[in-house]
Amino acid sequence: MGGTNPIRVQSMTTTDTMDTEATVAQSIRMIEAGCELVRITAPSMNEARNLEVIKKELRSKGYDTPICADIHFTPNAAEFAARVIEKVRVNPGNYADKKKFETIDYTDSAYEAELERIRNRFTPLVKICKEYGTAMRIGTNHGSLSDRILSRYGDTPLGMVESALEFLRICEDHDFYNIVISMKASNTQVMVQAYRLLVAKMIETNRNYPLHLGVTEAGDGEDGRIKSAVGIGTLLEDGLGDTIRVSLTEEPEYEIPVAKRLAERYYERKNHSPIKEIDFELPYSPYEYNRNVSRDVINIGNHNVPRVVADYSMKTEITPASFFGVGYNYSVPLDKWNLTDMAVDYLFAGDNTVNFEIPGTLGLIYNSQTWLKHKTQERAYPLFCGEEYFMSSDKSQQLNFVAVDIQELTETFIHKIKHDKRVCLVLDSFNKHTMPELRRMAVELKHQGCNLPFIVKCNYQNLDEASFQLYSSTDLGGLLLDGFGDGIWIKQKECVSTQVCNSTAFGILQATRTRISKTEYISCPSCGRTLFDLQETTQKIRERTDHLKGIKIGIMGCIVNGPGEMADADYGYVGTGPGKISLYKGKEVVKKNVTSETAVDELIGLIREHGDWVEKESSV
Ligand code: SF4
Repeated sequence: MGGTNPIRVQSMTTTDTMDTEATVAQSIRMIEAGCELVRITAPSMNEARNLEVIKKELRSKGYDTPICADIHFTPNAAEFAARVIEKVRVNPGNYADKKKFETIDYTDSAYEAELERIRNRFTPLVKICKEYGTAMRIGTNHGSLSDRILSRYGDTPLGMVESALEFLRICEDHDFYNIVISMKASNTQVMVQAYRLLVAKMIETNRNYPLHLGVTEAGDGEDGRIKSAVGIGTLLEDGLGDTIRVSLTEEPEYEIPVAKRLAERYYERKNHSPIKEIDFELPYSPYEYNRNVSRDVINIGNHNVPRVVADYSMKTEITPASFFGVGYNYSVPLDKWNLTDMAVDYLFAGDNTVNFEIPGTLGLIYNSQTWLKHKTQERAYPLFCGEEYFMSSDKSQQLNFVAVDIQELTETFIHKIKHDKRVCLVLDSFNKHTMPELRRMAVELKHQGCNLPFIVKCNYQNLDEASFQLYSSTDLGGLLLDGFGDGIWIKQKECVSTQVCNSTAFGILQATRTRISKTEYISCPSCGRTLFDLQETTQKIRERTDHLKGIKIGIMGCIVNGPGEMADADYGYVGTGPGKISLYKGKEVVKKNVTSETAVDELIGLIREHGDWVEKESSV
């Protein structure tokens, strides 16, 4: 991996490492799906020893895919594995430290003494890797930073970078460079910032280690795929990443097609239209999340949540039934519209006519000429194309959408429009390199001091559902993570149903944490350390809680990443022993060793106790 090699795709087994047959069989399924590196957990010496057996078995069956041992807390297992397999992953937060969540005020000398302790603990592994030609991943995880790092740098991207650098410096002191680095988090904002900061630090210090990209505990299904694409895709668009692992709470072989689709998109990226270089100081920080400051027009921009625009311009007719796919249900007996949490804010009708009463929360957008016929209709607004706006004598007194592409977004255009308080821009791109082009437009607006709200629009044609979801999540997610976009607009032809397009749009906003419309599940992909059936449990918890808008529930197979990720979740369900679960409120354990039979009920009880429970509404 690294250098001019393609982006490598990898995954991790979920079987018990001591079960050779099951682990070999699962590894083969992963390899046949395209997995180029198989990671297997080694929680103790027994499992580390069994890695040798698993490797022999795979080789005897003709599979020469490299194997990586996943290590937390057990240097002796790492040192054994490094002698028998191709790669070892260490987590700096867990390798030499046990987390106690203590905020210790380290003096400089106490801090140095800690580093010396780590050096002594870690050096033997470095020497073995060097001697045996074994690769190493320094795999930092946001959820398991050491108390030392937390006390000095806090729970921050900088803390994650520093945690890896501490270990990296030890490796370099021994002239060991066969290293790849990761900075994973379940929070996509933190994850993207940490990788970027790491790269900036590496450039500053003349280092160029390959990067392993991943979003931890992304969850399953559509949410897991969208969240992974938002985090991994954003960095791939930045030109970063040498190997990727998509962590889904599903069978590991299902992760591979997702990872491959994300990586392969770049094989066709040659010859995209060039994007003008930024020759001024970057007007925002790629290392921290700050929403771009914009003025509000009606309910768009400023402190309003990013809005969702559904594109119905290609429909031949719009009827009340057409709104079902975008979050509105019409109740005939009650003669009223019911809204779901995923009800769009604007609907672009194009040149269609909407001649019935629309839901009170919805705005309609028409092409400017068609709008002239509907301008007395309530909440109907025109869409102009660039310069057309200045030439038109008939504009809305409340809100005008003005669509521009990168050619039209000139300095003169920006200066002419930027003081118009009735305008919301729509930034449009047809470049294969969509996200960076849209980002370039956002940067230009900021550079020119234009604070008009803007909606970012992406266009897709003839894509299957999986590609559509991954590409739109990458393109729009990347912008939202940098604070750009007062709304999103996806135009698609022959890709997915209106419903899937809508849930993808809301999923992207959720995954970037810019607009929360559903319960979030931070569930780990499971591995040989998992102490209960994670997929089944996640489903059970989802069935009971998926109506709790805005609550984050962590579901972890074990404690390895548990406590830290719990700080990011509101409630947590963590395996602690066979059939035993600990329940968390934030990062505090509130119930220990609950039996797995009653743990889901107890979790619901805990949510009730803290006043976050609401009953499920029965649908009308
Ligand atoms: S959190 Fe899940 S995937 Fe991670 S080590 Fe524990 S059981 Fe394995």
